[in-house]
Amino acid sequence: MKILYVYAHPESKSFNGALKDAAMVTLARKGHQVKVTNLYAIQFKAVLDAHDFRIRARQDLFNPAHEQIHGIATKSLAPDIMEEIEKVSWADMIIFQFPVWWSNMPAILKGWFDRVFIQGFVVDLQEGRVYDRGLLKGKSAMLAVTTGASEEMYSPGGIHGDLRQHLSVIMHNTLEFTGISVLPPFIVFGAADMSREKGSREIDRYRNVLESL
Ligand SMILES: Cc1cc2nc3c(=O)[nH]c(=O)nc-3n(C[C@H](O)[C@H](O)[C@H](O)COP(=O)(O)OP(=O)(O)OC[C@H]3O[C@@H](n4cnc5c(N)ncnc54)[C@H](O)[C@@H]3O)c2cc1C
Repeated sequence: MKILYVYAHPESKSFNGALKDAAMVTLARKGHQVKVTNLYAIQFKAVLDAHDFRIRARQDLFNPAHEQIHGIATKSLAPDIMEEIEKVSWADMIIFQFPVWWSNMPAILKGWFDRVFIQGFVVDLQEGRVYDRGLLKGKSAMLAVTTGASEEMYSPGGIHGDLRQHLSVIMHNTLEFTGISVLPPFIVFGAADMSREKGSREIDRYRNVLESL
């Protein structure tokens, strides 16, 4: 499979860094082709703004959605966006790995979605090309995330609510919206305070999940 690995943690020596390194080895050993977008390492610009558009549809008013449609149609989006669009087009599967921040993805990854998942590339609202008819149909995706809070806190009825429900904004409203099939997430609960022994066991668990893709 051709796999795009989108990774969002600012420290390579973190537990997330170790998970990512294990993933690279495992996926290569299984014979997958892998491209990586290491968002912090490339200092990915996280904010959608007028600088994303080399040729503007309108100069007098900045309408982000209209400029995105025009930008993809005229291939005049900023080079870093075009690079990511090419990687997404190339991939059969996308794995998103990140620590849960404020029960959501880190802002740098949210910015990747804002700037790369562009109308005209991932969906076509005018033609009703969403969900089952989304433009990325045929691709799959998986989230691999870590939390500080325990599984109990993030369970249905737990103090923070069901993490899988929070992640559905990414899995359903974003990824499935574009036609992508989403696999169950890989979650390491309570990662912040765990021992290195537990960390090693969780890395092994991740390897097993990736081996069975
Ligand atoms: C802005 C912000 C918002 C946050 N919001 C939330 C939130 O809403 N909900 C929530 O639950 N949490 C939240 N957190 C906490 C965050 O999710 C965790 O700190 C993060 O998931 C831990 O992952 P890490 O890679 O940074 O771990 P690290 O701190 O790098 O490591 C954690 C532990 O893993 C072990 N470890 C590290 N490296 C290895 C290795 N190579 N092999 C084996 N074991 C290892 C060590 O024992 C270490 O103590 C937030 C944090 C921030 C900064």
